[in-house]
Amino acid sequence: MWRCKVINPCPSGRGMGEDRIGVVTSTLTRRSQSSRRPLPVGEVRIGIILLVMLMLLEPGCMNSSRPEPDPTPGIALTLATERAQTVNNLRYDLSFDIPAAASEPVQGHASIRFSRTNNDHPLVLDFAPGAESLTSVTTNGKTSQFRSVNGHIVIPASELSTGQNTVQLVFRAGDASLNRNPDFMYTLFVPARAHLAFPCFDQPDLKAPFSLALNVPSDWVSVSNGAELSRETSGDRVKIRYAETQPIPTYLFAFAAGKFQVETAERDGRTMRMFHRETDAEKVQRNRDAVFDLHASSLAWLEKYTGIPYAFGKFDFVLIPSFQFGGMEHPGAIFYNAASILMEKSATENQMLNRASTIAHESSHMWFGDLVTMRWFNDVWMKEVFANFMAAKIVNPAFPNVNHELRFLLSNYPAAYSVDRTQGTHPIRQELENLNEAGSLYGAIIYEKAPVVMRQLERILGPDKLQEGLQSYLTQFQFGNATWLDLVHLLDERTDLDLAAWSRAWVEEAGRPSVSTEIQGKHIIFIQPDARWIQQIDVLIGSAERLKTFPVQLQKEKTEIDSDTPPQFVLPTGGGVAYGDFALDEGSRTFLLKHLPDLKDPLTRGAAWVTLWEELLDGRVQPQDFMDLALRALPQENTEQNVQLILGYAESTFWSFLPDMARGAVAPRFEQTLRSGIARASSSTMKATYFSAFRSSVTTPEGIAFLERVWRRQEKIPGLMLGEPDEAAMALELAVRSVPSTPAILQEQRGRFMNPDRKARFEFVMPALSGDPAVRDKFFEDLSDVRNRRREPWVAEGLAYLNHPLRRQQSEKYVRPALELLRQIQRTGDIFFPTNWMYATLGGHNSHSSAETVRGFLAEQKDYPIRLRRIILQSADELFRAEAMQVRSRLPSRS
Ligand SMILES: [Zn+2]
Repeated sequence: MWRCKVINPCPSGRGMGEDRIGVVTSTLTRRSQSSRRPLPVGEVRIGIILLVMLMLLEPGCMNSSRPEPDPTPGIALTLATERAQTVNNLRYDLSFDIPAAASEPVQGHASIRFSRTNNDHPLVLDFAPGAESLTSVTTNGKTSQFRSVNGHIVIPASELSTGQNTVQLVFRAGDASLNRNPDFMYTLFVPARAHLAFPCFDQPDLKAPFSLALNVPSDWVSVSNGAELSRETSGDRVKIRYAETQPIPTYLFAFAAGKFQVETAERDGRTMRMFHRETDAEKVQRNRDAVFDLHASSLAWLEKYTGIPYAFGKFDFVLIPSFQFGGMEHPGAIFYNAASILMEKSATENQMLNRASTIAHESSHMWFGDLVTMRWFNDVWMKEVFANFMAAKIVNPAFPNVNHELRFLLSNYPAAYSVDRTQGTHPIRQELENLNEAGSLYGAIIYEKAPVVMRQLERILGPDKLQEGLQSYLTQFQFGNATWLDLVHLLDERTDLDLAAWSRAWVEEAGRPSVSTEIQGKHIIFIQPDARWIQQIDVLIGSAERLKTFPVQLQKEKTEIDSDTPPQFVLPTGGGVAYGDFALDEGSRTFLLKHLPDLKDPLTRGAAWVTLWEELLDGRVQPQDFMDLALRALPQENTEQNVQLILGYAESTFWSFLPDMARGAVAPRFEQTLRSGIARASSSTMKATYFSAFRSSVTTPEGIAFLERVWRRQEKIPGLMLGEPDEAAMALELAVRSVPSTPAILQEQRGRFMNPDRKARFEFVMPALSGDPAVRDKFFEDLSDVRNRRREPWVAEGLAYLNHPLRRQQSEKYVRPALELLRQIQRTGDIFFPTNWMYATLGGHNSHSSAETVRGFLAEQKDYPIRLRRIILQSADELFRAEAMQVRSRLPSRS
């Protein structure tokens, strides 16, 4: 899985926590004790007395002296551990009958075969919709006397044996993880959402071959992990059978069906198919060959590096509009967010790189995660870090013009720091008692910090030993499961270092080391009060004559080196390697605030920017000084990745950290810098980068009028093609600036859409931009109803505009209720939604009173879930820092 800011259509009602007893007496009869709704015709209602009698007759009940405790909601580690030890030879045979109308239920049939090593306990299957959705359950051919408890089906041991068992279930599938839309649907079962749809053992270490049949409208196409075996058309329906898969866990099982177009290509003797819903045929043609090539080159590279051929037979991928993540690595059927694969003409170089990385990332998962899977989701970071790590290696040769060291720095360090610097940070490897909390493990620490740590591992081991260790890990555990410690053990055999100790600091501790520098003439001292964080860094030392790189191993409280001459500045992060909170010495800070743009090497400049940003956030650099540096640097900066970084920092400084007076004063110069950037940029991607920054930062009347002329197509920007999403974004930015013709602009933009998915999204977001506060209030109020939160990326976009800095005073009243909704958001939403919800809410705010609201909320919530508390503390970090800067700016200056 690849994290992305986009989220999901999440349906309501997971049925968790239900406590029903269901007894099935014939394959067509279902009874549910607590069911309040009338039973359908043909069903027999049994009174509670009969029910109790039936239970008493059940042999397992009669001879057990103590009743088994009921399984708790979700998938508890204890349950998973017990099942992994006792369930063997597992196979699923599933079929689903999918109606065209998203409102009609999906009917399913599951045949689950397995043996047990121990038959002392009842068997617990997972199925969140509960007894109400079960039509029949038979165990080894006989009607089961099962119980339905807390989203589980409990089957008495008496119905099972230690040999081969078969449980057959006829059920109505839960919609919560089926993402049903008009004309298409797709599953998304990560991390443990398969059992929201069908009965299974929903844990990563019970891998099984899956056989699947889908019955869908005959004008739909469909795709799953296995190759298509057969199809039978009957009237307006078609039944498609898929070949049995290799052993895979439930979270990797997937299918999609609906109105999709299919593009097919051959690469290296392998047929690949791309399913998509893009209406712009030219856009598909423009992108398709590159997308197939990127997959082919990724697979070829991975086969070579791992020494193991792609293990899952056929290879398809599905581009889904508004997909929750950038991608999801279902073997044989990768799902992607369509927008991250089909690029606009105006795509920036970074977007092209991101696409290549996303494809390489998902392809890497075919080995790291799919072939060898983590035993439990506490090690989910492992598959993500390897996918990222491999992706970086794969993408590099395909982009020879790119500075990859700089790219690694900029794609990992700022994001990792954005969490690791906050009070809400956590270790890479976390405890996880229940999979219903697994979603909250994902985030920058896994996706961005872990790759930095992995690169350190490669530095201290050497690339060859790491590759050898990984090959032996993939071979030893293929089609099975392994933990991080299994790998550490394999690598530890290949080095004299104490890898276990190194892993404890970097993988099992939260936060980052603090390092400060002191300079005494030619003598340089690095002070790291907590010496457990060992790392090998490249320090950059600058003097009037030259720049020099010093490799330094930080492993003591004080590390000292000598330069040939007294340095003008020392940048411990200058080689783009060091990770931590680095406080510069005063002289180096002053030097960089003046001369950063003159540094020759783009990597050094990037590292210096990242470091100065931390200094700004820690209050050692003033926002005005930082903004001034950014505006001086931009005209000189020609490396696109650095331009993007600086623009991002400048925008944040402008909106969040500059005092209001200073913002107004700097605005004309800021806009002028951006417009010169657009005019000067030699590539269309650089133009697009500058234009996008201009669009979101413009505040002067002249600037806004220019933006409006561009949106009205009255003024063209030479060399810049603006697509539908660009125009939509311009319309929204004009609206949030309350230009007089806002209602007409929004209406006209609605009419311009050719793509129905984008139009629907725009219509959803529109009320959040209304000039009428009552309409905005209503937009926010409606979000308290889960039915209005199904399109999570749309919700996040609307919420971000609602809380836009230009409307922060009117929208502060939404902060508290948004916090109050967070628990519900977590219960009903997909895994990144709580984080996206909070960032969309707090991103626009910077006042003391909104910071107080967040602190007050946290202080009141005594037993608040720790993971949600962390999310709040992470998303409020810039708000707290903006508040601290305001306090400091009112204090008398020290200088
Ligand atoms: Zn991933």
